[in-house]
Amino acid sequence: MSNQIKISTGEFIPLEMHKVRIVQKLNLLPVEERLKAMEEAGYNSFLLNNRDVYMDMLTDSGTNAMSDQQLASMMIADDAYAGSESFNRLKAAVEEVLGTKYFLPAHQGRAAEHILAKAFVTEGSVVPMNFHFTTTKALIMYAGGRVEEFFYDVASQVKSEHPFKGNMNIEKLVACIEENGVEKIPFVRMEAGTNLIGGQPFSIANMREVRKVCDKYGIPLVLDISLVCENMYFNKTREEEFKDKEPAEILRTLCDLADIVYFSARKICCSRGGGIATNNEKLYLKMRDLIPLFEGFLTYGGMSVREIEAMAVGLREATDFNMIRHSPEFIKYLVERLDAKGIPVITPPGGLGAHLDARGFLPHLSSHEYPAGALTAAMYIAAGVRGMERGTVSMERDPDGTEVPAEVELLRLAFPRRVFTLSQTKYLEDRIEWLWKNRNLIGGLKFVEEPPVLRFFVGRLAPTSDWPQKLVAKFREDFGDSL
Ligand SMILES: *Cc1c(COP(=O)(O)O)cnc(C)c1O
Repeated sequence: MSNQIKISTGEFIPLEMHKVRIVQKLNLLPVEERLKAMEEAGYNSFLLNNRDVYMDMLTDSGTNAMSDQQLASMMIADDAYAGSESFNRLKAAVEEVLGTKYFLPAHQGRAAEHILAKAFVTEGSVVPMNFHFTTTKALIMYAGGRVEEFFYDVASQVKSEHPFKGNMNIEKLVACIEENGVEKIPFVRMEAGTNLIGGQPFSIANMREVRKVCDKYGIPLVLDISLVCENMYFNKTREEEFKDKEPAEILRTLCDLADIVYFSARKICCSRGGGIATNNEKLYLKMRDLIPLFEGFLTYGGMSVREIEAMAVGLREATDFNMIRHSPEFIKYLVERLDAKGIPVITPPGGLGAHLDARGFLPHLSSHEYPAGALTAAMYIAAGVRGMERGTVSMERDPDGTEVPAEVELLRLAFPRRVFTLSQTKYLEDRIEWLWKNRNLIGGLKFVEEPPVLRFFVGRLAPTSDWPQKLVAKFREDFGDSL
């Protein structure tokens, strides 16, 4: 099933189910200035200034467009340190949408992860999951634990028609529990819309299997619903049992299968903030007292009351099919066109963004030359588009300092919800095609400043040759004095 719209040529296009009422002016710098900006940013797209960026596709975190209802709700926020009405409204929305009685606010997704790690992870803990997220893994390691990822082989294949590449490998999960013993495993974690393998969903059938294993061994199941909107979209469009179900019902089905759900509201709610929800009083009490210690009092958790109001409205809107279908359908549009031209891109199209396969794009570079980082830099130079490296640069070194090559080397081009238009998407498609034709010009990167933790955020790199200058010269040759 697709909700794209058929036009007279026989093509399908994604159709916006909203109109633009507030706009932000953008700059498109000339290519020479883009090169200069990239140099100043140490070839790390996190260090670019947004004023130098034409399409900011770094992330969907805190960059989704808010609705008029969300903006309006912020005006009636109830400022109080304790017992704010805004918090009561959020708690009611959480109870209604997620079906959970207890709610702990945290200032963003990783803050929720910090609380989970502090409450449950100890030295030597092992946390099995379908796939890690950067902050999740770093926080579990920081607490002395270790992450084990159990996905099926298909997850690391670039080209596939598998509808649920985010599924947990059940056999490996069971083997891990048997091997390590239940006492070493504080919880099992499932991530909806697996961020780092290309926004790929898991099926509810798979989640039910995971639940069975957790029940058998008595291990709590934690569900990260930051990217659940896209996961739900695919449960509805790819999983027979759910094709006629409302998104609200699908979300409840997912949450009911977990003992704890947590989220980054920067993603799921198109706002800011985050939180942890559960129906299990014992688990709740293990986490509760950490909130005032690390986040803020229990009725604001480090967030402003305005953010809290926008979260409450955003959480309800997260079950509107017209809202959640927007970005997957733009992604599908772009991915299918790139794929038809033979450009290596993760298929099937997922949520969150389009993911170019940098290993397929730049086979002449080894993982130690950071192909995904190089492609991210080249993308900005060629188009003023800021994507995110999701490859070896985003990995943590092993404790002994060994570089760990990433499972997949991706340039992620995020589609924050309701932000970009179809003409911008077509411009992006054209520039990706140009880069593909000129891929032999793109060389590698090396670290010049490498922080020990989460190095991808602020680490600085440099090209291993003068390839960026050659790319700019070719751009001028092909596009004349156009931007
Ligand atoms: C973004 C994200 C987080 C962390 O959330 P922040 O609000 O950025 O701290 C955690 N899990 C997943 C799956 C995410 O995509």
